[in-house]
Amino acid sequence: MLETTIAGSLPKPSWLAKPRMLWAPWQFAGEELAEAKRDATLLALKEQEDAGIDIVTDGEQSRQHFVHGFLEHIEGVDFTRQIAMGIRNNRYQALVPTVTGPLQRKASVHAVEAGIARAHTKRKLKFTLPGPMTIVDTIADAHYGDKVKLAMAFAGLLNDEARELEAIGVDVIQFDEPAFNVYTKAVTEWGIAALHRAAEGLACKTAVHICFGYGIKANIDWKASLGSEWRQYEAIFPALAASRIDQISVESAGAKVPIELLGLLGGKDVLLGAIDVASEHVETPEEVAATIERALSFVPAERLFPCTNCGMAPMGRPLAIGKLAALAVGAALVRERLAGRLR
Ligand code: ZN
Repeated sequence: MLETTIAGSLPKPSWLAKPRMLWAPWQFAGEELAEAKRDATLLALKEQEDAGIDIVTDGEQSRQHFVHGFLEHIEGVDFTRQIAMGIRNNRYQALVPTVTGPLQRKASVHAVEAGIARAHTKRKLKFTLPGPMTIVDTIADAHYGDKVKLAMAFAGLLNDEARELEAIGVDVIQFDEPAFNVYTKAVTEWGIAALHRAAEGLACKTAVHICFGYGIKANIDWKASLGSEWRQYEAIFPALAASRIDQISVESAGAKVPIELLGLLGGKDVLLGAIDVASEHVETPEEVAATIERALSFVPAERLFPCTNCGMAPMGRPLAIGKLAALAVGAALVRERLAGRLR
């Protein structure tokens, strides 16, 4: 009960990539890079295990960015045609590649790091992939000419990848959909259908991480403009509750999401963000426990998984490690109190 997990990413060691930076360049190339990624993956697993995280990830140590890490291996995506584009409804500018032909997955994208992670932990392993709607929002299109067609094409490739990851022994496959908070109407129109395509035929647990973004300035400024209550989830939770996805990962710590909205996710596992990734403060176990206990009024304990609000990639390493430990200790505190009440 109250098994802990993380949204997905952890900061990379400074010898692997420049710290505190999104899209940080690698410090190695070729064979050396492959070896460095492997070493960093082992460290990420060890840090999570030592902190007491129950469902671990590879820390996304082998990809430069959670979307482009997948796109780099897809035929039909031209990285030499980079275009500056406003993404997440123009919240920020990013240099994105262009779709110039039919999409094809030349080979497995993440099998190597998933295999390394599987071989080196006995804990449940979660693996993250970008969701189709978020991919479509992070790429230029000069071929398909239709967002939904493009999303469904990516969803097919994601499904092939996800089936391979499942065969490697991954226990949970999570699709990251930060775009779900931005285009709430499209979520019900085709976003969830695209997710279903991506998750088709999987027997392992499936999850979707919907999110208000990394703790970077553009997101913090955006959140400040959202008013005293963030009700975006209200528009999409009923559709997610009716979906075939098992787990929903949402932000809660330090967020202005009304906690009662979690009641709209009846029947789903909730990965509850109890760690704020936009704050330099390491939560105390009591603060983590308080976040979890607030949610317990709306989600039964057996369906609640304490988690981080979002990925920790752009964070300093000691801070991230401190927050992992706080998450595990806070969850243990709540477990003890619940057990005490049953006694
Ligand atoms: Zn996130």
